[in-house]
Amino acid sequence: MPLTATRSDARAPNDAMTEPPARPDWRQQLANAIQDPVTLLRRLSLSEDLLPGARAGEPLFALRVPEAFAARMRPGDPDDPLLRQVLPLAAERQDPPGYTADPLAEVDRGGTPGLIEKYHARSLLVTTGACAINCRYCFRRHFPYHRERGDGGRWDAALARIAADVETTEVILSGGDPLVLDDERLGALCRRIAAIGHVSRLRIHTRLPVVIPDRVDDRLTAWLRETRLQTVVVLHCNHPAEVDDAVRSASSRLREAGVTLLNQAVLLAGVNDDPDTLCALSERLFSAGVLPYYLHLLDPVSGAAHFDVPEQRARRLLEKVAARLPGYLVPRLAREEPGRPNKTVLAPDSHVDADFVQNAR
Ligand code: SF4
Repeated sequence: MPLTATRSDARAPNDAMTEPPARPDWRQQLANAIQDPVTLLRRLSLSEDLLPGARAGEPLFALRVPEAFAARMRPGDPDDPLLRQVLPLAAERQDPPGYTADPLAEVDRGGTPGLIEKYHARSLLVTTGACAINCRYCFRRHFPYHRERGDGGRWDAALARIAADVETTEVILSGGDPLVLDDERLGALCRRIAAIGHVSRLRIHTRLPVVIPDRVDDRLTAWLRETRLQTVVVLHCNHPAEVDDAVRSASSRLREAGVTLLNQAVLLAGVNDDPDTLCALSERLFSAGVLPYYLHLLDPVSGAAHFDVPEQRARRLLEKVAARLPGYLVPRLAREEPGRPNKTVLAPDSHVDADFVQNAR
């Protein structure tokens, strides 16, 4: 006989029994990331016809996607824009001329291991080679982190170099994804940076609050709150479907901890190369308290040519976005070139919308 609920069994909506199951800790989510194409295809009810392509691309750069990100993909859609960012393809084996393993000439530059000093007054620390997600278009997908991290991740030489250069006002934590490291290490690193008197800002480049929003927990916000450094977190989000309620909530926790939030996206064929998607991305980010900052042209990294959007087309796309949005929601279209001390901004010409500045006064 089937069991049926009686009135006395009924529970109030806020009763513990009706609570959704707690999500695993972010470290567990990180460890449980999908790393096998078969698992990903099954998770999304996709045809195994996609498997040979995925198997062909996978040895060049491993598949890695956390469940929290996969959950935002449309089941059954092989062209889903989030899936496209992570699924290996046979096309990765075809490199047109100009595509290289080190498109920004960052490897073997000499200097201090683990430290990249290509921008004036800013020093970039390569904190880790690990990421929560492996993005197929990543310009560091072939980066030899094991060589470039220098002293095994203690950062002694890099921090000594920053301390000796009084012109350095900003330290950028990059990787890999710095938020893959635990908060004990990050908090300790941040305190060492804050002890260098001439450094006033800390910038963290990360995709983790987007792909595993639970990463923004009390431990993270505790050390962010306590630092004397002005802190900027530059998120990496390419498509409006990446911004769900959990990402909004993570952004809100970061802002409450005193962090300024910016976003960098990459313009990617088949992912966000149309004005509707770019406008929706800016609107969604802003509704989450994140300012769209840069839209990068693809760096010509080996294995990613199928994501390329030619510059002229990119400029036209930006013109359409600029015609529809206030200036502060129009990201700068930019290209990074090896050896140049700053990014080259291609559009829009005048970034800040005159009406917005007028109204803000
Ligand atoms: S999270 Fe950033 S560093 Fe990591 S693979 Fe993606 S683009 Fe590259």
